[in-house]
Amino acid sequence: MRPAELDPLFASVSTVQGVGPKLSKLLDGLVSPPGAQDGAKVRDLLFHLPSGVIDRRRRETIRGAPDGMLVTLELRIDRYQFPSREARNQPTRVIAFDATDEIALTYFRAQPQWLEKLLPLGETLLVSGKVERFNGRASMVHPDFVGRAEDAASLPLVEQVYPLTAGLSGKVLRRSVDSALERLPTLAEWIEPGVFKREGFPTFADALVQLHRPTDPADLASDRPAFRRLAYDELLASQMALALARERARRKPGRSLGDGGAVRARAEAALPFALTEGQRQVLAEIHADMAKPVRMLRLLQGDVGAGKTVVALLAMAAAKESGAQSALLAPTEILARQHFAGLTRYCEAAGLSIVLLTGRDNGRVRTAKLEAIANGEADIIVGTHALFQDDVAYHDLGLVVVDEQHRFGVHQRLSLTRKGRAPDLLVMTATPIPRTLVLAAFGDMDVSRLHGKPAGRKPITTVAVPFERLDDIISRARQAIEEGDKLYWVCPLVEESDKSELTAAEERAEVLRQFFGDRVGLVHGRMNAEDKDRVMADFKSGATRIVVATTVIEVGVDVPDASIIVIEHAERFGLSQLHQLRGRVGRGDKASSCVLLYKAPLGETAKARLAVMRESNDGFRIAEEDLRLRGEGDLLGTRQSGVQSFRIARLEEHADLLEIARDDARLLLATDKDLASPRGQAIRNLLYLFGKDDAIRLLRAG
Ligand code: ADP
Ligand code: MG
Repeated sequence: MRPAELDPLFASVSTVQGVGPKLSKLLDGLVSPPGAQDGAKVRDLLFHLPSGVIDRRRRETIRGAPDGMLVTLELRIDRYQFPSREARNQPTRVIAFDATDEIALTYFRAQPQWLEKLLPLGETLLVSGKVERFNGRASMVHPDFVGRAEDAASLPLVEQVYPLTAGLSGKVLRRSVDSALERLPTLAEWIEPGVFKREGFPTFADALVQLHRPTDPADLASDRPAFRRLAYDELLASQMALALARERARRKPGRSLGDGGAVRARAEAALPFALTEGQRQVLAEIHADMAKPVRMLRLLQGDVGAGKTVVALLAMAAAKESGAQSALLAPTEILARQHFAGLTRYCEAAGLSIVLLTGRDNGRVRTAKLEAIANGEADIIVGTHALFQDDVAYHDLGLVVVDEQHRFGVHQRLSLTRKGRAPDLLVMTATPIPRTLVLAAFGDMDVSRLHGKPAGRKPITTVAVPFERLDDIISRARQAIEEGDKLYWVCPLVEESDKSELTAAEERAEVLRQFFGDRVGLVHGRMNAEDKDRVMADFKSGATRIVVATTVIEVGVDVPDASIIVIEHAERFGLSQLHQLRGRVGRGDKASSCVLLYKAPLGETAKARLAVMRESNDGFRIAEEDLRLRGEGDLLGTRQSGVQSFRIARLEEHADLLEIARDDARLLLATDKDLASPRGQAIRNLLYLFGKDDAIRLLRAG
């Protein structure tokens, strides 16, 4: 149960003074965390931080005011110049003066009564806005603020600005946040005292007050204590949740797998190639982990085409040494089938029995497969989520391998391992995630990096070509096909929609068919799995030579003799995604190329991305560049790499805090694994505040 002291923060925004049904709807849309179902809370309003401030502190005379800069003038109102009836669209000018000059305060479509009340004749007022000059005459269009000179001390000279939404004004939002701040309870400090002091953090409540009531623009800076405090809170909550999940997973004793090595040797001998140095190295790490009587929780990072599948095979062979089964989980049906097809050859030679289980199996086939899994006949079970449905019982599941993990959530991943007796877990990802992101996404997981690529790979030549040269590309494609090449043609959307200029895959396939007839296949996300497989099988066999695809081919598809990939609207893809797509080629012994078709004009970031793609084939470097280029705000890019997005923290700026949070979470759990101490109790509040209810549930499950 959530502690009652948090209730004020979890009350609906509609309970805030001045927030009626209409406003509360607007706030639901604006401030709720992604995926929230039950409407915005007071907490969400408070976590909706200002994006900047209006600073009206600069006092100037009319003559001294620099053009275009926000200043506050002290003016005496002299006269009104209303437009004539015939010239309704002309503005009203209110002429005012100070000791240095005269200025026209200009209002369009203002009601005379309203103006006379706002700017009474003869009054001395403080007026803020930007001064402009025409022919030496000063004017200010729609002053942004007007107040009485006597009230100078209490005027909002520094005023915060919030991200808004249609129908919601800054003034209304400021007032709502202000009322919400009144609700802030005093909560016990959850930050470790040493960190708190060293960082000069304010309390949680003070940090929120400082950010929502800034007295200086710098108060909002992300490197100032108030902002850092909240960023740290968020990072600590997420690291605590990850550490808890990990601790629970480790609590069940693991088992030692892989004695002997006979099966492994047979499997390795079945491969038509020698392992790369990189593969040997990560396998040594994995096998050492598996041999220990604790559970393995290991992340294998390796660039596309680095050869992770073979690593998985040999890890699964090690499980078999001890008589245990392995499950290999793929994110899509295509990939599951591909893994199954690829591994079957080697498994036969190694004396391993392999079964494919997907959502498509039913009836007698499914029953037979389930039986083989339950009685231990199947050594390796490849499949999709179907592997973990309730009616799938394993004889003795010892190892779970998750491929291309970035499509699975953290908690989903942990639930997978419930099937066996605390099976080892190996997560493989093709996105070479920078260290910071690994930490944010997985917490303190062991990481193996697979460096290098199988020998004999030719580098991929990458070119960026403007869309206007589509004809050239098509004639080059013709030439390539005549020489026996295969190519991928990637388009971002399935169907043409009026709203979007994106080239539809269907339309592109039509166009290409005019040139290449039935040698063109089309695969997209809305097709059913059988049709997708058929298209890919035709491509693999050579029945088709071009496959037009939406990004469904992004992950893992392996057609080694495809040597060209054309990516339309390359400017719309993120760097990691482009690199993933490019990784579909360059898998065989042919020289390959990647054509990035873009629509001019390119923005700065898009330009930089395409340049990085042309210069580098190194996934780790590309991942670092990606993080750098993305900057804050591009949550999509972050999501792509499997990292949940943060509401407040910015990974590029708060990486140091992330490390501290990781260490602190680990330390606390080492001494207080049930979060029962006073600080542990305070941390529970933190977990609730940042929506880590799952983690609390883990605590209760014991
Ligand atoms: P990824 O890391 O992207 O999953 P794969 O496991 O699909 O890469 O391997 C890519 C290709 O490289 C496959 O065709 C695979 O058979 C081949 N391969 C893997 N290891 C080696 C090796 N040591 N030598 C030569 N080819 C290899
Ligand atoms: Mg793979």
